[in-house]
Amino acid sequence: MEKLVNGFLKFRSEVFGNKKVLFTRLSQSQAPRALFITCSDSRVDPTLLTQTDPGELFILRNAGNIVPPYGSMQGGTTATIEYAMAVLKVPHIIVCGHTDCGVMKALLNPEDVKNLPAVKEWLSQAETTRRLMRELHADITGNDRLIKTTQENVRAQLEHLRTHPSVALQLRKS
Ligand SMILES: [Zn+2]
Repeated sequence: MEKLVNGFLKFRSEVFGNKKVLFTRLSQSQAPRALFITCSDSRVDPTLLTQTDPGELFILRNAGNIVPPYGSMQGGTTATIEYAMAVLKVPHIIVCGHTDCGVMKALLNPEDVKNLPAVKEWLSQAETTRRLMRELHADITGNDRLIKTTQENVRAQLEHLRTHPSVALQLRKS
């Protein structure tokens, strides 16, 4: 914890001052370049990956970068997407999966989360991914299976995004 507190103190005394023009502008408004949806995993750093500054990415993180289809589970994820599209008019959406994702592992091995009721229910939102892996990719094994699951999951979540009215509207307009 000490490292985190010292990091914040350093930010306040050194970094903030060096970017004062940027932070002053951002204190008034934001116009992010994209909605970036990714896993909560500590090893994924959207701003490092895209070399962006504060204000450039509207970031939505959850376990497994999952987007529930519209209407199946109203909550923070759906509200964040709606705000990004309808209010901020964010022009792009990125869904980013990652290697060694614990959620993708759990999708392949449901036994791992049998004592985690909230995670288990959340994973039901990735049933498409699970079904695709079982029906179309039964021959893929080992780490390749985990990688394929991650890729299929990103594709499935892109499809789910289209069910959100705010996304569908913007797609139709573009
Ligand atoms: Zn993950």
